[in-house]
Amino acid sequence: MKSYGLFIDGQWVPASDKKEYKVFNPATGEQVGQVGDASEQDVKKGIDAAYQAFPAWSTTTAWERAGILKRVSELIMDHQDELSEIMTSEQGKPLAEAKGEVKNAANSVEWSGEEAKRIYGETIPASSRKKRIWVQRQPVGVAAAITPWNFPASMITRKVAPALAAGCTVVLKPAQQTPLTACRLMELFHEAGVPNGVINLVTGTDAAMIGDVLLADERVGKISFTGSTHVGKLLMRKAADTVKKISLELGGHAPFIIFPDADLDRASDQVLESKFRNAGQTCICTNRVYVHESVAESFTEKLAQKTKKLKMGNGMDEGVQVGPLINSEAADKVAEQVRDAVNKGARIAAGGSRRSEAEGKAHYFEPTVLTDTTDEMVIQQEETFGPVVPIQTFKTEEEAIQKANRSRYGLAAYFYTRDLSRAIQVAEKLEYGIVGVNDGVPSTVQAPFGGLKESGLGREGGKYGVEEYLETKFISFALDQ
Ligand code: NAP
Repeated sequence: MKSYGLFIDGQWVPASDKKEYKVFNPATGEQVGQVGDASEQDVKKGIDAAYQAFPAWSTTTAWERAGILKRVSELIMDHQDELSEIMTSEQGKPLAEAKGEVKNAANSVEWSGEEAKRIYGETIPASSRKKRIWVQRQPVGVAAAITPWNFPASMITRKVAPALAAGCTVVLKPAQQTPLTACRLMELFHEAGVPNGVINLVTGTDAAMIGDVLLADERVGKISFTGSTHVGKLLMRKAADTVKKISLELGGHAPFIIFPDADLDRASDQVLESKFRNAGQTCICTNRVYVHESVAESFTEKLAQKTKKLKMGNGMDEGVQVGPLINSEAADKVAEQVRDAVNKGARIAAGGSRRSEAEGKAHYFEPTVLTDTTDEMVIQQEETFGPVVPIQTFKTEEEAIQKANRSRYGLAAYFYTRDLSRAIQVAEKLEYGIVGVNDGVPSTVQAPFGGLKESGLGREGGKYGVEEYLETKFISFALDQ
């Protein structure tokens, strides 16, 4: 059983009023740890520490920051098995997926650190012989990071690593359900040599209070949030009061188009991987499939057969590919979307049922394929965040693009074709921040990740991720002679 306080100014400290909360395993309902439950005063202490640490950290050389982040990355990989087990025990994803996420987190830390050395300024030709113009990049100051439960490690490293690389200090608030991975990561950042106060962790049950304190404080220059579109909008409104820089990675509703010339074996493999990873609980999971009517039957048959073979269960068990959903509300939402679709005429080609285990404390939903779905069904309009693929057919390329773009979200979209001209043109027409052409798993640390429309603002990953933590300063020199 893991037990942690809050990590402030390089020390583990209890919450000011000694409050703690328990963390449970979603596959068994058993308690796996407990962590500090921060008060308003604790969040302010976290900001104080980050603010005081900023002058020294922001003036370290890029080489020093890169060296420390490289060491963090190595330590994360040295503890890959331990971190993966902690993650699976609090989040539920299969252990193999957790290991992949830890590797991704380490890569993201290493890559961001290396990028610190490439934070370049500019000189611009002046319009007077007596002037010189410089453009300098500087860290924004204290950055606040709020992260969700579905990727307990990589959502943190995607924010913290570029922030540190840029020279910012950080106050992190991880999701209530998955604080243990965050706590262990804090220890590794500290062990690698990140100085006291540069990174601070406030866990807690009152997310709205923590968010309000971070947003109201003028010393916080930047807020980076990953989570639901609903909460993202709340934070954006509140950030306006102090005009903070803001990055939002919000919900998705990813379409996957199967054109008639697609390799159906590979396309169905990619839909399977894109949809059922983390039991469908990722923002870039395929959320609706559009398949050309000429290949619909064959594609559906292949996908349904593969879906039926997926092994569901406790993520700690050997061979499990689909774990539990995070809680009963998540399972209710999936069940309701399936019920609504079936009531409106959808047919179930695989799965379709909910299962509760461990005295109703663990909530599973069978990997499910629905056919004959229509735009009127809720599942075609909203993010599912569960293991269900709704399939619709289309007749023309134009119709497929129109259907794919008909959403308030614009995070990720995928399609399969062998036609090069079509590949280029469809990729350009899709209104999404990420497009996978014959690729259902495009995400990688060196590429920009983020969405259009109500899927968010800004990008994480690669040089774009570091940019989000930098200000641009124009310095004008007037010369004496
Ligand atoms: P959520 O309810 O919005 O929570 C995300 C984080 O915000 C958690 O730390 C949560 O704290 C906190 N929070 C909740 N209410 C808040 C408030 N009023 N003020 C400040 N913070 C608040 O989202 P979720 O259900 O955990 O995550 C799933 C969503 O995240 C999905 O919509 C998914 O698509 C999206 N997501 C997007 C990306 C991306 O990169 N675009 C990646 C992953 C997930 P508590 O845990 O304490 O409630």
